[in-house]
Amino acid sequence: MNLSLEGKTVLVTGGSRGIGRAIALMLADNGADVAITFRSSVDAADEVKKLIEEKGQRAKAIQADAVNFDSAQEVITEITEDWEKLDVLVNNAGITRDNLILRMSEEQWDQVIDTNLKSIFNYSKAVAKPMMRNRGGSIINISSVVGISGNAGQSNYAASKAGLIGFTKSYAKELASRNIRANVVAPGYITTEMTDELDEKVLESIKEETPLGRAGDADEVASTVLFLASDLSEYITGETIRVDGGMAM
Ligand code: NDP
Repeated sequence: MNLSLEGKTVLVTGGSRGIGRAIALMLADNGADVAITFRSSVDAADEVKKLIEEKGQRAKAIQADAVNFDSAQEVITEITEDWEKLDVLVNNAGITRDNLILRMSEEQWDQVIDTNLKSIFNYSKAVAKPMMRNRGGSIINISSVVGISGNAGQSNYAASKAGLIGFTKSYAKELASRNIRANVVAPGYITTEMTDELDEKVLESIKEETPLGRAGDADEVASTVLFLASDLSEYITGETIRVDGGMAM
């Protein structure tokens, strides 16, 4: 057993930037053909596609709103028709629309639940049959420590990220007999454009609450995803692995 993904095909949703980009590139580095989806960053997505191809792997960058149920089916059909199979799905696309409950709008609630939770249903459902035909697969859903601990001002985000942990365990139980594994990675504070929006004071307090005393890097999340995608984790399903410098322990 090893970390190699040679001969495997992967889809990373929201692979144009941040953590998704790092995951896509690291899985390609380890031998996988990688498709990414994105919502609007056409140039960034094209760059990721080029970088994957330069590593000698097949690549796709597909513009597809993860909220849209039919579009998830179309993305999976395109990949499984062109590449014959899909071995690994990484549900990474996500957003924040932070606000205190008293000020949170219905729109802020719905956008976050749809993007972070419904998208996971959309893609996990769409891959179930192709993965059953392929006699196995690995699904990795990106949660957050906020889904474990909660966070003032992020009730919508926490609900979506906690919800996906319950979804993943149920999915893992339903499909384990078909050799399909489903696991969760829960990052702590990772430096990306999403966290660029936080103000300095919040960032300092996050670092203080992190036993390892620093922010994480997108590659440190990607390496955990690589492990869960590979055969090295073949007896792990329904698990949540925190990559948070100890923040939520
Ligand atoms: P970024 O904002 O840097 O990147 C988000 C990615 O998701 C982009 O590729 C974006 O595409 C894509 N995306 C957003 N909405 C949609 C949609 N509706 N359909 C398709 N793609 C979409 O975020 P991060 O890299 O920081 O976060 C990635 C994941 O990790 C998220 O699920 C987030 O909740 C989670 N996470 C992040 C943490 C952090 O500290 N950064 C901590 C814990 C969890 P486009 O470029 O087109 O906009």
